[in-house]
Amino acid sequence: MRSVREMGSEQLRVTFHGVRGSTPCHGPTTMKYGGNTACVSVQADGQRPLLLDLGTGLRYFGNQFVEKDAPVNAVALVTHLHWDHIQGLPFFAPVLKPDARLEMFGPVQEDGTSFMESVKNIVRPPTFPVDLSGLQGRFSFHDVADNDFAIDGYSIKSRLVPHIGPTVGYRIEFGGVSVAYISDHQQPLDGSFAIADGVRELVEGVDLLIHDAQYTPAEFVTKAHWGHCTTEFAVGVAMSCGAKRLALFHHDPERTDAELDATKACSDSAGVEVFVAREGATINL
Ligand SMILES: [Zn+2]
Ligand SMILES: [Zn+2]
Repeated sequence: MRSVREMGSEQLRVTFHGVRGSTPCHGPTTMKYGGNTACVSVQADGQRPLLLDLGTGLRYFGNQFVEKDAPVNAVALVTHLHWDHIQGLPFFAPVLKPDARLEMFGPVQEDGTSFMESVKNIVRPPTFPVDLSGLQGRFSFHDVADNDFAIDGYSIKSRLVPHIGPTVGYRIEFGGVSVAYISDHQQPLDGSFAIADGVRELVEGVDLLIHDAQYTPAEFVTKAHWGHCTTEFAVGVAMSCGAKRLALFHHDPERTDAELDATKACSDSAGVEVFVAREGATINL
């Protein structure tokens, strides 16, 4: 007899492959939470996996296909073109096979440059030995801004999010459960916790919010214009929009495991279930 869990109470598997912002890091003080940059997979049974960003954590998502010698057929939802969100793409070994398929969504630039052109401009000499066509797998591209669309059985919302340069966040719904992903989010500079309408649409009543939590309040004082926010702001967004759980994400590369443990301890009283995203962790929704 199948258990209740197997019969569908867990509709989505969310796995963190990279949880850092800005640049990868390694060493004894970051081993617990991990040092790879932003990459999260969201998977429902019978559907293609969705990849939230393509940071250096993407390599580790890719290993399962390499080990099984299985063709990858995945969808990437990319928030923006900063290195920490795209750098894993040229090192994603499964796309070296001609039967690999990667459908990618990402923002158009202010000068009108399409997402496809932006990616092609990154994956090419002299910054990489070959251009995208040298990776053999088949790629397709879509521009997004404020859009509602469907991918397989998933319902997706993309909304523009305050950051530096065109940036979106995503909301994924499947089988009555929902995940919102806002990896990089500029906290208001006026001292308020004002929330953009588009951000609110992504987060309203969501089962799991994965949100930027790069800075401490002290760091934000000196880095207020760098496009990010504090843990306190992330908790404020989750509370204001009625998110049920909050994964603190996009950890500063200087943040140690001990500091992240302490962050969790002081966030637990917020009325939202708060946890620190850790590389390798899977959340079943
Ligand atoms: Zn980032
Ligand atoms: Zn960024």
